[in-house]
Amino acid sequence: MKYAFVTGGSRGIGKAICLRLAADGYNILLNYVANDAAAEATAAEIKNLNVEVALLKFDVTDREKSREAISQWFANNSGSTIAVLVNNSGIRKDNLMLWMKDDEWDSVVDTSLGGFYNVTKPVLEEMIKIKGGRIINIVSLSGLKGLPGQTNYSAAKAAVIGATKALSQELGRRKITVNAVAPGFIVTEMTADIDEKQYKAHIPLQRFGQPEEVAALVSFLASDGAAYITGEIISVSGGLF
Ligand code: NDP
Repeated sequence: MKYAFVTGGSRGIGKAICLRLAADGYNILLNYVANDAAAEATAAEIKNLNVEVALLKFDVTDREKSREAISQWFANNSGSTIAVLVNNSGIRKDNLMLWMKDDEWDSVVDTSLGGFYNVTKPVLEEMIKIKGGRIINIVSLSGLKGLPGQTNYSAAKAAVIGATKALSQELGRRKITVNAVAPGFIVTEMTADIDEKQYKAHIPLQRFGQPEEVAALVSFLASDGAAYITGEIISVSGGLF
């Protein structure tokens, strides 16, 4: 069976991506770290779309646990493949560099950049065997332009942008594409503390985006129509830069 694997799929943008890829016909492998209730509620919504869904709870910052969970899943599901990997899990812990605590730096970098490495490597080993696949990394406008108060987050996302470009060149001949989606302000729990009224005047489209608007691009990048696109970083930001 053909699966799409979405990290941080329980809530927000990841949830919207799971639902959109399920509507596209993929079975869904949904990773999350803590929120069982949200993961189970999302899984129930996915099931209503008549595809299979499996929950894979592990912390993407934990290299050993990530590898173990992924290799166990492949061992228990022989014949199943991961055709699409969406590296979406991420956290924000904003602070000026001058006041930043070590944990604020480490946890943000470990989740976005460490998570990308810890999950992509074991999945890649399997994708190569099926001679094709799509890897889609959810990065951020913050990683493209740098935002004050987010040196940790901007650095982590910029690093994943660099890795996207490098990995796309390694994997082209194996028919695996690697692209990144860079959202601007999207309405999720991550941005619940940011006042849309205050910021929307700076956004050409004059509003925050919805998770489904990010998921629509992920769906396209996973589709046959995007077979000749790789190494690209595409913004979904209402024109904000
Ligand atoms: P949310 O805070 O709404 O959801 C975060 C998701 O990531 C949850 O599913 C959470 O799981 C999961 N997660 C967090 N840490 C880990 C971990 N260590 N291991 C596994 N899963 C983890 O975030 P958004 O939906 O807003 O963000 C999704 C992605 O989009 C992130 O990478 C973020 O940086 C990026 N982004 C978001 C923007 C926005 O405006 N919202 C803008 C630009 C980029 P659980 O439910 O178990 O806690």
